[in-house]
Amino acid sequence: MEQHAPEVRSTALGMVRQGIPYREISERLGVPRGTIGWWRHEERRAAGTPFFREHDCPRCRPRAFDRAAYSYLLGLYLGDGHIVCKPGQQHLSIFYSDEWPGLIAAAEEAIRRVMPLPGVHRRQKEGCTEVKSYSGHWPCLFPQHGPGRKHERPIVLAPWQREIVDEHGWAFVRGLVHSDGCRVVNWTTRLVGGQRKRYEYPRYFFTNTSADIIGLCTAALDALGVSWTHLRQSRAAQTVSVARRDSVALMDRHVGPKS
Ligand SMILES: [Zn+2]
Repeated sequence: MEQHAPEVRSTALGMVRQGIPYREISERLGVPRGTIGWWRHEERRAAGTPFFREHDCPRCRPRAFDRAAYSYLLGLYLGDGHIVCKPGQQHLSIFYSDEWPGLIAAAEEAIRRVMPLPGVHRRQKEGCTEVKSYSGHWPCLFPQHGPGRKHERPIVLAPWQREIVDEHGWAFVRGLVHSDGCRVVNWTTRLVGGQRKRYEYPRYFFTNTSADIIGLCTAALDALGVSWTHLRQSRAAQTVSVARRDSVALMDRHVGPKS
């Protein structure tokens, strides 16, 4: 086996403890995966402890957590989040285009406020960033996780989630719009008193292929007093549009454009 400096070994083991997969540690440190596994095995044997990943899941070990941050994260997850939960590979991932550094930071912050262990990580990919939390407990927080795609199975909130969304409706809508929605500005010009003036019409859209998720979005908008309409489209996804001036003003106050 190739010799590695002791600092590399301890850095690798520290990363393992944070829940970072061997593949990623291997890429970052340039150490073969098998070596990391061997180090881990030796460390565990020396400590005489079975494998245990530290977690602070608020469902398994009840404790208070930031409910507004949870509502936002639920919106992100239902919009465009992914949970992987199989032996040796357990994480929550949210993908962002690199144009939205503000959203990336907001997602990381929400994860820290809900389930800070074992940590939040960023993975840079081609033109996008993956915000990732390696924990096997995300399905406890998002029981909507299941086999197949979200639009192929019913998405129904558990009573405790329902309560949080009712309490923090704006955070939920913000999460949905930040993941699968947008604010666009259409404009036109009109002659007013002989002068050509530019008029802007901001609108919000939320698009999703799950009718249940669309239903959760429109129910939350109704509860918040936001008028919306379904946009007629020829594709499988459904789009909810918020275009009325007073409703757009409400959305601007509580959601705002992506940043
Ligand atoms: Zn749990």
